[in-house]
Amino acid sequence: MDKKPVWYIALATLLVALVSILAGACRQTSILTEEEKVWLKEHPNISVSIMAHWPPFEFINDDGEVVGMSIDFLEIIEDRIDHRFKRSYYFDFQDGLNQLKAGRFDILLDMQSTPERLNYMNFTPPLTDHPHVIIVRANNQHLKDLDQLADKSIVVVDQFAIHEYLKYNFPHLKIEPMNDDVDCLRAVSTGEKDAFICQQAVATYLIESEGISNLRISGEVPYNNKLGIASRKALPMLNQILTKGVNAISNKERAEVYNKWLSHTKESYAQRLRIFYYSGASITVVLLLMLFFNVMLRRKVKQRTLDLIAAKEQAEEADRLKSAFLANMSHEIRTPMNAIAGFGEILYGGELSGDDVKTYSEIIYKNSRHLLHLIDDIIGFSKLEANQVTISKKLFAINRLFEQLQANNKALLQSAEKETLTLEYKYGLKDGKDSIVGDETRILQVMTNLVNNAIKFTNKGKITIGYKVQLNGDIRFFVKDTGIGIAKERHKEIFQRFVQVKNDDTIHLKGTGLGLPICKSLVEMMGGQIDLKSEPGVGSEFSFTIPVRGVGV
Ligand code: ADP
Repeated sequence: MDKKPVWYIALATLLVALVSILAGACRQTSILTEEEKVWLKEHPNISVSIMAHWPPFEFINDDGEVVGMSIDFLEIIEDRIDHRFKRSYYFDFQDGLNQLKAGRFDILLDMQSTPERLNYMNFTPPLTDHPHVIIVRANNQHLKDLDQLADKSIVVVDQFAIHEYLKYNFPHLKIEPMNDDVDCLRAVSTGEKDAFICQQAVATYLIESEGISNLRISGEVPYNNKLGIASRKALPMLNQILTKGVNAISNKERAEVYNKWLSHTKESYAQRLRIFYYSGASITVVLLLMLFFNVMLRRKVKQRTLDLIAAKEQAEEADRLKSAFLANMSHEIRTPMNAIAGFGEILYGGELSGDDVKTYSEIIYKNSRHLLHLIDDIIGFSKLEANQVTISKKLFAINRLFEQLQANNKALLQSAEKETLTLEYKYGLKDGKDSIVGDETRILQVMTNLVNNAIKFTNKGKITIGYKVQLNGDIRFFVKDTGIGIAKERHKEIFQRFVQVKNDDTIHLKGTGLGLPICKSLVEMMGGQIDLKSEPGVGSEFSFTIPVRGVGV
């Protein structure tokens, strides 16, 4: 017989045995005795009853999962004893105790040993140890210990260990048990009760999770909540097994579970606080921005509306002025034309005395001149409106311009027949340099217009005509009179097209109202600016500056 297969089989068996030994060594050895294991096998229906809402210890979270600090411990224990208990749930603490007392529940988590409970429960060593704290409303934070709570209304959760503790050790306190922690917190928050004595971890967790902002932890009670796992008194083996499981939890594992649930509470609070601040700040910024843009928009809309109203009013006013101007103009033309035609006809008819002929001829002459002046204004204005006026820049002697002006004025004054009115001239350039570059004709036109007005609106006194070189080299021309003057509120409008100053004193001196707007346009075309100083009854001074770079050239 071939021996080879025998050797092979022996070797394989040895290897299998070795591997299984190694695997067994690697696998965590059970902490339970055979007897305990057998007991568990014989009691497959032992269940852990979990309170459905006692965060952070045991509760069903928003995703429907059973979680909590004690659930984590339970899972470690189950791992160590290599057995998973059945789960059942309860909602009311007293009910949980009663069910266990009645033998319907086997295991309750998070139980504190009390003399009373020891009658029907066994306890493992505690897994958590937290102080009890006093919770009050923010305005009652001076209630820091049990002495200060002597005459206050205190709530605790019915049949919690702290209830039993306070009942026996502080019988003078007014303690009222309530169904659960949330009921107690609300009773204090609403002012129905003064203080709630509760386990610290639960208090912190609930104040945050319930979002009750007017509650504070004011002090501690010298009684710690040492929570272990309770099991039915009738099942001492179960307590023995659970105690082994509890003792098998390493310090590192305990620390990990504490940190997970207690720092989680703090973290979530800090996180929520941060989110609250950030979202608060962001909302504030967004609101401020919206407010800012809203205000800006309103302002803009208001300004636009005002601008539109102003533009509309301006357009209406311009339209009204234009119509008034046309009506006025036809009247202005008709008046001298009627005089010319009427007196011309009389002259033509003959049989007049020599004096009459002279008087009528004079009327015709004056009206013709007036008409000419009128037509000049209209043509000048129309040219300006049609942008047909150009400004020339030529070298000319400014004093020669004034000589010309002087001669014109003499004739104007003569025809105005104002004996009590004198004309005075103030001009002359430094060092006798009187040549400038500019538009001589336009300057003469503006000056003639201003002198014409001055003579028209001044009956006695004097009219001073001249020019002065400014510090910057510009030349300021002026015509100053001692006439009727112009009210301040009309200073602007007389330079506007189609406007005649409605002044009772000047009604008989009505003109086209085009003279000054023409002057203004011409001066501006020459790069200058026209100004007026005037006071009713005192006189007026019209002036304009022309930038003249060529002085003395
Ligand atoms: P008008 O042909 O009506 O004189 P202007 O434009 O030259 O037209 O003048 C406009 C108005 O300004 C005049 O009707 C008059 O009421 C006022 N005005 C102009 N110059 C003088 C002045 N030197 N003194 C007083 N009022 C003046």
